[in-house]
Amino acid sequence: MSGGGGARVSDVDVVVVGAGIAGLACARVLVDGGARVRVFERGPGVGGRLSSEQVDGRPVDVGAAYLVADHPDFVAQVSAWERLGLARPWTDTLRVYPGGEDSAGPVRWAASGGLRSLAVELAGGIDVQPGRLIESVPDDADAVVLAMPGPQALRLGPPAAIAAAAEAQVWRPVIVAVLTYPSREWGELRGAFVNDHPLLATVCDDGDRRGDGAAVLVAHSTAALAARYLDDPAAAGPVLAGAVGELLGLRGRPEVRVHRWTFAQPEAGDSEYAADGRVWLCGDAFGRPRVQTAWLSGRAVARALLS
Ligand SMILES: Cc1cc2nc3c(=O)[nH]c(=O)nc-3n(C[C@H](O)[C@H](O)[C@H](O)COP(=O)(O)OP(=O)(O)OC[C@H]3O[C@@H](n4cnc5c(N)ncnc54)[C@H](O)[C@@H]3O)c2cc1C
Repeated sequence: MSGGGGARVSDVDVVVVGAGIAGLACARVLVDGGARVRVFERGPGVGGRLSSEQVDGRPVDVGAAYLVADHPDFVAQVSAWERLGLARPWTDTLRVYPGGEDSAGPVRWAASGGLRSLAVELAGGIDVQPGRLIESVPDDADAVVLAMPGPQALRLGPPAAIAAAAEAQVWRPVIVAVLTYPSREWGELRGAFVNDHPLLATVCDDGDRRGDGAAVLVAHSTAALAARYLDDPAAAGPVLAGAVGELLGLRGRPEVRVHRWTFAQPEAGDSEYAADGRVWLCGDAFGRPRVQTAWLSGRAVARALLS
């Protein structure tokens, strides 16, 4: 796309399908590099699985629970979000069940305005078109970047190498329950990994994570529970609320809202992206499954296109 008497970057049209963190990171680098970029997103806004819903007038993270940054480029991005007052270091200590012991680890970053606010910032100045469900690989662009889970990319009938990479991905579902309690009964919880539990995988104190002290916990189910309730996620709400109450010894009865993620967490992959001609596939399945990986994968595609 550059130099050598070929097309100038500014002459090249790129369509990015998906305005999650991978698609936005890709579009950001392309736009900053001078390319013409349109981002199509089927949902009403940006963020994808960096998802925050308004509950009782405050944002609650119903997708990713927090960020971990250990790649220098992503560390710089998170620091930039911190300088803008968007990201905040939340905790390096989470509880582990069974046992209930504290366990130290990397700093987990949260966002006072919900993690989706970081995607909104990244989207600034980019032509993002929400409410656009794309049903086949667009043919009116020089390059098309599918920035989404492989099973979603397969619905667009991508070329062979993209289809093969997408089919090789293995995904697990998660059902998320937002539990709003009458009061904070749990003291200094921050968050907890729940190991070997048939129903629960993690519980996070959203009031602590957000910094406003609201009496809200967010529970993530195991893949096994999510698979059982995929067709009726609302029915998983009371099950998760009961499991959290039992785990933490809570007496208050919460209001319960649920969110279903059919493609929540992939198994780790070892390449940065897949490509076939003018079609590219990126996202969090290209590395350890986390926000940082999606961001790096989207940028790697953009850099390859610009070079
Ligand atoms: C419950 C849960 C907990 C998690 N916890 C953490 C955590 O604590 N820390 C962490 O780092 N990561 C966590 N993750 C993972 C993290 O959310 C993802 O790694 C990251 O957000 C993936 O970004 P992405 O851009 O690759 O994909 P997505 O965010 O899925 O973006 C894909 C986008 O493409 C859009 N799209 C799909 N098909 C089409 C189409 N045909 N036309 C138009 N648009 C389309 C979708 O609507 C979506 O917006 C969690 C995820 C879930 C679900």
